[in-house]
Amino acid sequence: MPEGPSVKRFQLLCTPFVGKAVNKVGGSTRQVDPGDLKMLTLWDAQVHGKNLFLAFGAPGDNSKSTSPEASEHGSTSQGKMASERSSFLPRQEGNESDGCDPQRCLQEEHEGDLPSLMDDVAGRPWEWLRFHFGLYGSIRASEFARAKNANKRGDWKDPIPRLVLYFDDGGFLVFYNCRIHRCSSPTAEPATDILSPEFDRERALDALCKATPVCHTLLDQSYFSGLGNRIKNEALYLAKIHPLSLGSLLTPSDLRSLLDHALQFSLEWLHSKLRGQRLRLQIYMKEKCPEGHEAKKGAFGPLDGLKRLTWWCPQCQPQVLPEDTGMPPVQCS
Ligand SMILES: [Zn+2]
Repeated sequence: MPEGPSVKRFQLLCTPFVGKAVNKVGGSTRQVDPGDLKMLTLWDAQVHGKNLFLAFGAPGDNSKSTSPEASEHGSTSQGKMASERSSFLPRQEGNESDGCDPQRCLQEEHEGDLPSLMDDVAGRPWEWLRFHFGLYGSIRASEFARAKNANKRGDWKDPIPRLVLYFDDGGFLVFYNCRIHRCSSPTAEPATDILSPEFDRERALDALCKATPVCHTLLDQSYFSGLGNRIKNEALYLAKIHPLSLGSLLTPSDLRSLLDHALQFSLEWLHSKLRGQRLRLQIYMKEKCPEGHEAKKGAFGPLDGLKRLTWWCPQCQPQVLPEDTGMPPVQCS
């Protein structure tokens, strides 16, 4: 599944279409009716963690629409995901769009000049779609993905888009292998978003120093939104930390180093994507580490959670065991 830097790049592919009207739709999705988007205008594109959010509203003078900064850096609003909404059709009088919903009122108070859900000219709130991408999920701008291999029967079948949005300027956006859901506002928790300038380091360090294997904590999206398996593997290697080391047995400087490497690697990955360059990986899916040592591979995850393939070098990343430290575990604050 695409990690934070990939989804950020998807957002940047969408932003040139902000302010443009959808004049034709296509795609195989049954999770939303693409026809509902026809004649609406794309008003915003935000990314939070591994999710992309697109806002649609009535066409018109959107003088209160999102600023370029807001689109570039993602939302700064504090909205939480609300329940799935019924449809894009106009709502009846007296429903929650009248401003009685306390969560919306609260959100408007905090958002200041940021676009409100109530701001489009037709008086209807923007409608948001949340895109969550599968393993080979992607977005293309004004081009379709082509088959890279023949299937088992020898056919060269191009991937089938889940959604295609054609805009009035002739360009189009194509969405592949993603789940699409309606929502009333984007989930915005910049404090946990690894690519946000507002990422809360102290909160992340508190999570890392628990008596839990650090490779499990790093994938916990409630602390490290956008951090996926590749970033986990690379950050652990760069910090020279064994994936199964308990956070409580690592020194504060080890934990800070792990966090720094995770954030730095995520940013570098994003920048290399924006330049169209391939990312140089040290350990992920490698047989040897850059020092030439044999790498090991195992599936690690919480007892009740998903196990993810993990690569590490036993020599560069020795496991810290309780008897090695000779000191009491780090005190989590
Ligand atoms: Zn090594």
